[in-house]
Amino acid sequence: MEKIVAKKKFGQNFLKDETVLQKIVEAMPNNDNKIIEIGPGLGDLTKYLVDVKSVEAFEVDTDLCKLLQSKFDKEIATKQLHINCGDVLDAWQGSLIEESYDLVANLPYYIATNIILKALADPKCKNILVMVQLEVAEKFCAKEGEKVFGSLSIITQSVGNAHIVVKVPPTAFEPPPKIDSAVFLIEKKTDRCDENFEGMLRVAFKQPRKTLMKNLSVIYEKTILQEAFSELKLTPSIRPHQVSTVDYHQLYNKII
Ligand code: SAM
Repeated sequence: MEKIVAKKKFGQNFLKDETVLQKIVEAMPNNDNKIIEIGPGLGDLTKYLVDVKSVEAFEVDTDLCKLLQSKFDKEIATKQLHINCGDVLDAWQGSLIEESYDLVANLPYYIATNIILKALADPKCKNILVMVQLEVAEKFCAKEGEKVFGSLSIITQSVGNAHIVVKVPPTAFEPPPKIDSAVFLIEKKTDRCDENFEGMLRVAFKQPRKTLMKNLSVIYEKTILQEAFSELKLTPSIRPHQVSTVDYHQLYNKII
């Protein structure tokens, strides 16, 4: 088989550090769910996953699909692994598969946020353990009051708990990316919140340095906002990142 050259357009940075690979496996939730791996690449993480669980993989690169099919011929024959060759976003209508699953993957960074939001909304997805750009992981895992606390943190906290498992330097990959990465885990307790709530969050954080009142007053009536803020004991000068997830939900229920 020809030598595989990493393709930038598919966000290919292959994870080669065995310690990080083992940390991902150790952090996997202990349950009977199937594993979905998006972008198995050269199969370095896949080989650990198929040892413990049955895996449904989605890989867009046809060269890699061929390589994986020959590398994992035994696991494919025993149905421990199934590889879908194609763009995962095309395959994702409602639920990605019909049974409960955990998403475990070193994601392609150019579509990582989109994939995580889809997994949060997918009722069949129970847990998300993924490697992404560090900056993105921090946004999903941020707590109220932190500078990067925003819509992604609130959407995540509304459905479960999130924490960073390990930070990963560029040297762990081949070729090394220009940025730091991190693996983080979201344990889902419920499904993603309704779209209108997420719409309110987008407005709330449109200009993060302005007050929450100022941002929201673009689409909500000021008097209704003032009343709701006062009932929730939120000062009019409060900034969007200083309000808790619980208060955002209460605020939403009062102003819609
Ligand atoms: N899991 C491997 C590892 O850890 O070394 C590879 C990770 S690499 C960061 C991202 C992988 O996602 C690549 O194999 C790439 O071809 C694949 N990929 C990129 N876009 C995709 C898409 N839209 N659907 C499915 N796979 C995709």
